[in-house]
Amino acid sequence: MRFGGRVAAVTGAASGIGLGILRRFAREGARVAALDLDFEGAQAAAEELGGDGSAMALQLDVADGDSIQAAVDRILAAWGRIDVWVNNAGIFYVHNIADPPDMENWERILAVNLTGMFLCCQAVTRPMMERGSGSIVNISSIAGKMAFPEEAGYCGTKAGVLGLTRSLAVELAPHGVRVNAICPGNILTPMLQSVDARICAEEGWEPGTHLEKTAQEVPLGYIGQPEDVAAVVAFLASDDASYIVGQAINPDGGLVLY
Ligand code: NAP
Repeated sequence: MRFGGRVAAVTGAASGIGLGILRRFAREGARVAALDLDFEGAQAAAEELGGDGSAMALQLDVADGDSIQAAVDRILAAWGRIDVWVNNAGIFYVHNIADPPDMENWERILAVNLTGMFLCCQAVTRPMMERGSGSIVNISSIAGKMAFPEEAGYCGTKAGVLGLTRSLAVELAPHGVRVNAICPGNILTPMLQSVDARICAEEGWEPGTHLEKTAQEVPLGYIGQPEDVAAVVAFLASDDASYIVGQAINPDGGLVLY
């Protein structure tokens, strides 16, 4: 049990990749905090995993610093420590740059994908520094390393996550806190399914056609599952990765090789 006696908190844990990460930490012995805008979803996850009181659900909007601080305080009050914090909550939208400005979506994606991650790191840093140990894992995307048209907000924030991760990694390593990032490829979640639904509707294709085409572009030949990401998160957060700092690893089936 790599995480026996430890506490792991995951943002965006009600769905998709975050739920997969939460389940992985629970399976490896951690007490887990499911943090999500979707409180009912977080509660369902906590009930699934924590019949014995080893899981809690908290409502949190990563764009709201007060709700982040309240969640950190609640976890510390209940369990006295936070060993692992996974910044997974994220949103996606597309916008053609030649179309009228879409400031509402632009401001929201910055607030959730980048500022929210910064605020979460800030809130969890001090308790980790005080204990002289901790691991923060930031979920970026292959979109942080490569380009997709009409995704300036998504690619921009996900690239920003990598810069944020590297800076915090060298700042916090001397305090025993390791910060790393993950850049998933195409992972079957509600977010990817909504992309498929939109593109198939635009192109007049059967639902699922975009996913099939996408899978053909992956060297391994298939779309990943949340567990493929969760396994790498758990590795980076574990003592097995005790000498790994500031890296950005791609569970993506071979799409991006740097
Ligand atoms: P998802 O299925 O949409 O799940 C995201 C979860 O985050 C949802 O429960 C959502 O709640 C929650 N959330 C959204 N905004 C939030 C906020 N402000 N505060 C707290 N929680 C919030 O997405 P996913 O595919 O699992 O993606 C998870 C992460 O992986 C994201 O950062 C995404 O960019 C990244 N990623 C995904 C893929 C992929 O192919 N799926 C690839 C690369 C990277 P609501 O449902 O209430 O909005």
